[in-house]
Amino acid sequence: MKLHELTVAELGRGLREREFTSVELTRHYLARIASGNAALNAFITVTAERALADAAAADQRLARGEGGLLTGVPLAHKDIFCTDGVLTTCGSRMLAKFVAPYDATVVERLAAAGMVLLGKTNMDEFAMGSSNETSWFGPVRNPWDLARVPGGSSGGSAAVVAAGLAPVATGTDTGGSIRQPAALCGLTGLKPTYGRVSRYGMIAFASSLDQGGVLARSALDAALLLAAMAGPDPRDSTCIERPVSDYAAGLDRPIRGLRIGIIREFFGPGLEAGTGAAVQAALDGFRKLGAELVEVSLPNLPLSVPTYYVVAPAECSSNLSRFDGVRFGHRCEEPRDLRDLYERSRGEGFGAEVKRRIMTGTYVLSAGYYDAYYLKAQQVRSLINADFRRAFAEVDVLMGPTSPTPAFALGAKTDDPITMYLNDIYTIGANLAGLPAISVPCGLVGGLPVGLQVIGSHFAEELLLAVAHAWQRETDWHGRRPPEPVRGAP
Ligand code: GLN
Repeated sequence: MKLHELTVAELGRGLREREFTSVELTRHYLARIASGNAALNAFITVTAERALADAAAADQRLARGEGGLLTGVPLAHKDIFCTDGVLTTCGSRMLAKFVAPYDATVVERLAAAGMVLLGKTNMDEFAMGSSNETSWFGPVRNPWDLARVPGGSSGGSAAVVAAGLAPVATGTDTGGSIRQPAALCGLTGLKPTYGRVSRYGMIAFASSLDQGGVLARSALDAALLLAAMAGPDPRDSTCIERPVSDYAAGLDRPIRGLRIGIIREFFGPGLEAGTGAAVQAALDGFRKLGAELVEVSLPNLPLSVPTYYVVAPAECSSNLSRFDGVRFGHRCEEPRDLRDLYERSRGEGFGAEVKRRIMTGTYVLSAGYYDAYYLKAQQVRSLINADFRRAFAEVDVLMGPTSPTPAFALGAKTDDPITMYLNDIYTIGANLAGLPAISVPCGLVGGLPVGLQVIGSHFAEELLLAVAHAWQRETDWHGRRPPEPVRGAP
């Protein structure tokens, strides 16, 4: 087995048993990045020097018999997480030269666990997108087929893990940005409960929806990372005071008797036939494992896309007002006066999708339209919450597809924002309700991966991971790798 085919759990064991050192492992990954990244465009920054220094420090800890399950294991961070002394761009020209002066809590915690930073991954600009085509640094390509998108906005993180350029990566999910790219790249993607993982140092898009999480090769790897990332943080008042479980230890809980709700609204005409068939086969698989399947209806869930596209832009218009050319980021050349400074700095620094969101958000919050749009959206958000609450009174988890189609061609949806927004039709509900959800590979359609989504009640991460793990013990979809050389490679 080659080093880049091992999971985080296997790498951690190999390091502790001195089968290889962290420096050897890190060199192996840096070499794979050097040869593989050009075709994928998945890293914005590679921190080779720092990685080797981190690795040497990890080897010393391991030699002293110290360190834990993650010590010496490399990872990549989505470029939305601030990294002290390292470029942190958020995929935007606005921050193209921004070197963060501190570490995000997620970055700090994974570093304290001894993980080695390989670099920062490409993403949709300010995490707005579903295809990784809005990045100022150019699109990311899907390692399963270079002519296709990896999903977004954590597309770089998904691509590097799927292509074996990093064993695991962080992501953020505001409306599906961990689960959708995980589905399109054949990975396990976990979006935790809102407030489970600190948002400190995670550049804000829509603060009531944003949540950091992980893109991994298995439920076990996701469990290991989550345990190290999660937990209360005095620097984020929305981060919940609640102890963190040993997620890996809970993976083997039996799923016999588990009550699974199949979301009726997720199996309508928008679902591509092959994807629907793969998800259906997975549901049958769970029935064979002893779970009880019942159909449930969440009647307000089809309103989640329009609701999100009022709430998220409203919050983004407020959050992104800090990028004014004065305190952070891009500043235009030779401004004539203050107004010119604001207008040109923001006009040059933001891309078209970000501008569309800021304008929509400003509009729905404006005095004349607040009641008609923003207030109405918040009311519908409450109805969606209530639908989930009713469902979880009946069932333990909800299941359905993660994304309506497998990876689509680059450029296929860039001219039509509404079509692009519909990629998240199955993922956004969990964000609006703050619920944890996971996507696990459940098949290949035309040689491209598709995902099964499992949604849990608040703080049910342990159960979601156990359900995903049970599925991964029975199947090998998560073990599939993109072909080498990649389809479409020159
Ligand atoms: N695709 C959605 C959007 O464009 C969700 C993005 C996300 O989860 N960050 O807003």
